[in-house]
Amino acid sequence: MKDIKRYTVTSALPYANGPVHIGHLAGVYVPADIYVRYLRNNGKEVLFIGGSDEHGVPITIKARKEGVTPQDIVDRYHNIIKNSFEQLGISFDIYSRTSNPTHHETAAEFFKFLYDNGKLIEKTTQHYYDEEAHEFLADRYITGTCPQCGNEHAYGDQCEACGTSLNATDLINPKSALSGNTPVLKETKHWYLPLNEYDAWLREWILQGHKADWRSTVYGQCKSWIEQGLQPRAVTRDLSWGVKVPLQEAEGKVLYVWFDAPIGYISATKEWAEEHHADWKPWWQDQDTKLVHFIGKDNIVFHCIIFPCMLKAHGGYILPDNVPANEFLNLEGDKISTSRNWAVWAHEYIEDFPGKQDVLRYTLTSIAPETKDADFTWADFQAKNNNELLAIFGNFVNRTVVLSHKYYGGIIPECGVMTDYENEIIEKMKEFPNRIGECIEHYKFREAQAELMNLARLGNKYLTDTEPWKKQKENPEYVKTILHVSLQICASLSILCEPFLPFTAKKLQKILNLDNKCWKDGGKSDLLKAGSQLNPAEYLFEKIEDETIAKQVKKLEDTKKANETANADVIPEKEQVSFDDFQKMDIRVVTVLAAEKVAKTKKLLKLKVNTGIDTREIISGIAEYYQPEELVGKQVLMLVNLAPKNIKGVESHGMVLMAENADGRLSIMQPEKQVKEGSTVK
Ligand SMILES: [Zn+2]
Repeated sequence: MKDIKRYTVTSALPYANGPVHIGHLAGVYVPADIYVRYLRNNGKEVLFIGGSDEHGVPITIKARKEGVTPQDIVDRYHNIIKNSFEQLGISFDIYSRTSNPTHHETAAEFFKFLYDNGKLIEKTTQHYYDEEAHEFLADRYITGTCPQCGNEHAYGDQCEACGTSLNATDLINPKSALSGNTPVLKETKHWYLPLNEYDAWLREWILQGHKADWRSTVYGQCKSWIEQGLQPRAVTRDLSWGVKVPLQEAEGKVLYVWFDAPIGYISATKEWAEEHHADWKPWWQDQDTKLVHFIGKDNIVFHCIIFPCMLKAHGGYILPDNVPANEFLNLEGDKISTSRNWAVWAHEYIEDFPGKQDVLRYTLTSIAPETKDADFTWADFQAKNNNELLAIFGNFVNRTVVLSHKYYGGIIPECGVMTDYENEIIEKMKEFPNRIGECIEHYKFREAQAELMNLARLGNKYLTDTEPWKKQKENPEYVKTILHVSLQICASLSILCEPFLPFTAKKLQKILNLDNKCWKDGGKSDLLKAGSQLNPAEYLFEKIEDETIAKQVKKLEDTKKANETANADVIPEKEQVSFDDFQKMDIRVVTVLAAEKVAKTKKLLKLKVNTGIDTREIISGIAEYYQPEELVGKQVLMLVNLAPKNIKGVESHGMVLMAENADGRLSIMQPEKQVKEGSTVK
C-alpha cells in the first residue's frame, strides 16, 4: 500500500441542460460528500471537485428550440444546480463549469500535447453537411427512416423505436433538422484516440489490478467493454459550441464533449489552486495522491476506460484508485425521467421542505443504489423521518438534554458510580468510529449510516432501560451517571453523524457546546466535561405529517395525468385503404414460447413464437417494457406475412403488434379470450 498524502475526489459533472434530481443526489453527490467529510474529519488533505458540463449537442438543441444562445441555457442551469448543491450541504472545495476560460485552455492544451506526441490518429471521413446552413450536421440533427424497422423519425445515431445504433449514412431519406433539406456528404478530417492500442494495458490495470477492490458492477461493465474490443474514438467534431480544436487546419471544429468534460476536473483544480495560491499539480500528478471518481453507472466507460486512456496517453497523470459508481434510483416504482418530469427535483425539495436537508440525505443514503437499482417513495421518506430520525436519534437526544435541564439547570452532571451496564455501553461506544469508518473507506455508505443509527439505538435503549425519570427521587446519584453517560453518547453522535447529517451535527454540537472534534474522538466517553453548561434543547427532527406527504404524492399524480393528457394527442387518420388492402395483412394470434434479450441492445428481445403454421423467431423492440419471462406463454397479435428481415444476425419473420403511447411506451395486444394459435384477425 502506498502512503496516501492527499485525496482528489471528483463527482460527475452534471449536464447543464436541466436541474438535478434525487437520482443524481443518491447516485453521486451524497455519497461523495459523505466520503470527503469523513476524510476531512480524519484530518486528511482533500480536494472535492465538482462543476457543470456545459458543452455538447443537446444544449445546442435546447437553445435552438427556445430561441436563445447555448450560453443562456448553461448559465440558467449552472446557477440552479450550484445553488441546489450548496443548499444540500454538498461541500465542494470548488464547483466550476466547463465554459470557463481556464477549462478551454486546459482542454485545448491537453489535446495539443497528445497531438504533438503522436498519440492521436487522423482520419478523413464523409459526413452529412447542410448546404443551406453551411454546417456539418451532428447525428442528432439528422433524421430519416430506420433501415431496420421503418420508423420515419430515426436519428442519425439511433432509432428510438427499435433501439438499433445507427450511422447517419444508414438512414433512408435523410433530412437536416436545421433546414429540412436533404444533406450532402462532404469530406471532413478528425482526430481519434486509438483506444484499441490500450487493450493490453487495460486488461492488466483493470481486469487483473482491480478485480478485488472495484465494485463488481463496475468491474463487470469494464470487462464487457474490453472484451467487446475497443475502437478508435473521435476526439473532435464539426460543431461551433465547445472547446475549439487548437490547430489551424481545424477551423470550425471543437473537442467532443466526452473528451473535454473529464479534463474539467483538472481545470477546476487549477482554478482552485489559483484562488488559494497553491500548486494544482500534486493533486493530479503525485503518486502519493489518491484519485477517486464518484459517478453513476451510465458514466462507467468514460471514467474507467476512456479518461484513464487519455491520462495514460498523456503520461503525466495519476490514475483513479477507485470509481465507486452507483446503479440507478427509481421514483415510486418508475424510472426517473426528465422529459416526463418524473422526478423529485433538488431545488423544489429545498423549497417544499425548508430545513430538512438531512432528511433527504438520510433517506437517499439508506436506499443508496450501491449494488442494484433502488426505489424512492414518499411513504418511505416519511417513515425514515418519523420512525428512525425522529423516534430514535431525535428522541434520544431530546430526552437526554431536556432531563439535564430539568434536573441540573443544563449543567453537565458528574459521572458517579457506574454499573456493568454503563461499562458495557462505554465499551460498545468505542467501536463505532472504526466500524463506521471502515464502511466508508470501502464505499459502503448505506451500511455506514446504518451503523451510525445503531449508536443512536444504543443510546435510546440505554435511556429506556434505565428510566432516569423514575429514579430521580430514590437514587439521584445514579441518575447523574445515566445522564452523564447519555450526554457522552450524544456527543459521539454529533461527531459521527457529521458526514451523513451535517446540519444536524451542527445543531447538536451547538446544544452540547461542543467544539469541532475529529473523527477519532467519536466513541470517547469523556468528550463533555462535568460542570460545563448546555444550551437549551432544540428539536433535531420534527414529525412529517400525512398531509405533507399527500401533497407530494399528488404532485406526482398530477404529473402522471399531465403525461396521459399529452398522450391523448391522437395521430390524424391515415389515408383510406380498401378491404382488399386490409386482407393482404395476415394478422394472427400467436403464442410466445421463449424470449431472451438480444446482446448489446437495450430495446430488442428475441422471441420464439408458435404461429399455428410453424414455430419461428422474430425480433421485437419491447425489451424496455417487458421482461423476457413475463412474455412466455402469452398470446399476442402478430403480422405474420411481413417480409423477413435480418436484424442483429437473426432472420426476423413477422412483427408483434403493439399499442404505442405518445411517449413511446409500448403495450402488447392480446385476444380478450384464449383462442387457438394461428387464429386470424379480421
Ligand atoms: Zn428502427
